[in-house]
Amino acid sequence: MSYMRLAAFVRRNVNKISPGKYRSTVASTKLKEEKEQLDGCAVVEAEPVELIRQTKNSPGTHTQHIHVDFDNTQEAYKSKDNIELLRSLLVFKLCTFDFLVEKNKELMDLSKKLLGNRMFEKMMKMTFYGQFVAGEDHNAIKPLIRKNQAFGVGAVLDYSVEEDLSDDHREKKYKAHRQFGDRRGGVISARTYFYADEAKCDNQMDTFINCIKASGGASADGFSAIKLTALGRPQFLLQFSEVLVKWRQFFNFLAAQQGISDMTVLEQKLELEQLKENLTELGVGAKDDIDNWFTGERIGLSGTIDFLDWNSLINDTTKISNLLMVPNLKTGQLEPLLRSFTAEEERQMKRMLQRVDILARHALENGVRLMVDAEQTYFQPAISRLTLEMQRIFNREKPIIFNTYQCYLKDAYDNVSVDVELSRREGWYFGAKLVRGAYMYQERARAKEIGYEDPINPDYEATNKMYHKCLEYVLEEIDHSRKANVMVATHNEDTVKFTLEKMNEMGLSPTENKVYFGQLLGMCDQISFPLGQAGFPVYKYVPYGPVNEVIPYLSRRAQENRGFMKGSQRERHLLSKELKRRLLSGQMFYKPVY
Ligand SMILES: Cc1cc2nc3c(=O)[nH]c(=O)nc-3n(C[C@H](O)[C@H](O)[C@H](O)COP(=O)(O)OP(=O)(O)OC[C@H]3O[C@@H](n4cnc5c(N)ncnc54)[C@H](O)[C@@H]3O)c2cc1C
Repeated sequence: MSYMRLAAFVRRNVNKISPGKYRSTVASTKLKEEKEQLDGCAVVEAEPVELIRQTKNSPGTHTQHIHVDFDNTQEAYKSKDNIELLRSLLVFKLCTFDFLVEKNKELMDLSKKLLGNRMFEKMMKMTFYGQFVAGEDHNAIKPLIRKNQAFGVGAVLDYSVEEDLSDDHREKKYKAHRQFGDRRGGVISARTYFYADEAKCDNQMDTFINCIKASGGASADGFSAIKLTALGRPQFLLQFSEVLVKWRQFFNFLAAQQGISDMTVLEQKLELEQLKENLTELGVGAKDDIDNWFTGERIGLSGTIDFLDWNSLINDTTKISNLLMVPNLKTGQLEPLLRSFTAEEERQMKRMLQRVDILARHALENGVRLMVDAEQTYFQPAISRLTLEMQRIFNREKPIIFNTYQCYLKDAYDNVSVDVELSRREGWYFGAKLVRGAYMYQERARAKEIGYEDPINPDYEATNKMYHKCLEYVLEEIDHSRKANVMVATHNEDTVKFTLEKMNEMGLSPTENKVYFGQLLGMCDQISFPLGQAGFPVYKYVPYGPVNEVIPYLSRRAQENRGFMKGSQRERHLLSKELKRRLLSGQMFYKPVY
């Protein structure tokens, strides 16, 4: 199958698969029992919250100025007893020792040997595991989820698993590289999956389904997170990403030929007649064929082609030859954009799409929103495109599928604005999670080693600017149509304050549920809980799993909380302040009431 047909295949097939039919091939009986167990799980209502709201406009309007105090430790740690505060302080303090952070894996292995597995697990549960992980399985995590909900903080359930890459004939960036086969290297904020076989992917899909059901059972507006690399052979994501990137580069090349390369991607409009001439001159196809590409209902009617029109061509097998040749922008030689898949690859790809579709349907049935996590740049174009195809299908009535945008990428703004514009044109609900990005060190090392341009912004400030620019763009869209939704997923207090300021300026009330906040469990409670208690929809990413399987995740938490990080210093300071306050006010045995 050629890639052009693949893209169309993606769109056709995600719609057609019958979940019931496919599910019969994988274990399903336990799911019913779990649903019953979860249905019995009562949701405790949040305590009334103290809001500092001043009506900005005249009485009768609903616009309120909401202020959240991130220094009020009493509010921030209301849900924690003193033992929990001491544990947090101890864990964050341990993270200030470089030696412990750098050698954490070796130290954990050694402790396991010396203490034995049972004692080691106990020790972990009293420290790092207890701080950052909710429990071993979806039953064990219920009490914590209930407690957080009682204090206004929801949960995005997050379970994980893994694939490796074997070699192939791709462009440099999209080739599997032995050195980067273990994709956990240099990643501090996300978990990594490695492919074993199709059966393992089915198991991983089952785990995600359990997650979705647990999220549906635990609250009326749950979220569940998935990673597409867990659902199939990443080779397919790698190959599809290459096609999408080449297609985009080809558009940029044609825009340069028309002298409009300095405009933003959405402003670039190619003159149709000149485009046809350019394509014919390049020998991309016969003149008649090229004319036929642009005869659709919409494409070319205005006499121009923009990037979204251009992208829609890749969906449509009827208009473009399967053997489309595009110029290699470096050598000037024509080469096929697409390479055929083998029958086995085609089967693997189909199964991956089926799994994604099944998950989306479960999410819809359970009233759960599905967050598709962003991963490495050599997978991300395909992940993002598949997610977008899901959004087109499932986000017709409300936002069910959320894409993730990594603002450390140089092209983050283009990615966000192009997708928002598509949702606007096609009338579906845009849903996004904005993050800075978890794979920076790995991305940079890979780009340097393999020899392609570093995809990451040059410095932290540039990433901050990019985050705020993307966020403003989505907020403006919300202001404009109320159809877009965004999760501001960050531990950065300035970004949270920036969002609140913008919401106040726009008169966007938290109760409209358009802007959500997200932090990881065990991190930045001083941001999550005051937000939750002030009525903002705020969620913790809640990882769960057996102690021994979450150790790589715990190592990354240790790295992200290293002593020199501004956020972690502040967290330690606030924790000490609250402990002192409780001791001085006689609250030695404080217990949260809910
Ligand atoms: C709820 C939630 C969900 C998440 N989901 C994902 C996901 O799906 N995919 C994903 O990739 N990550 C995800 N992350 C992790 C996220 O991308 C960040 O790594 C993490 O949150 C730290 O960024 P920050 O905004 O919280 O904090 P900050 O401390 O303000 O920012 C740190 C981040 O800034 C960027 N940065 C740091 N130094 C530089 C530099 N020199 N040049 C350029 N950029 C720099 C990096 O992205 C770094 O992680 C998620 C985080 C949260 C809280």
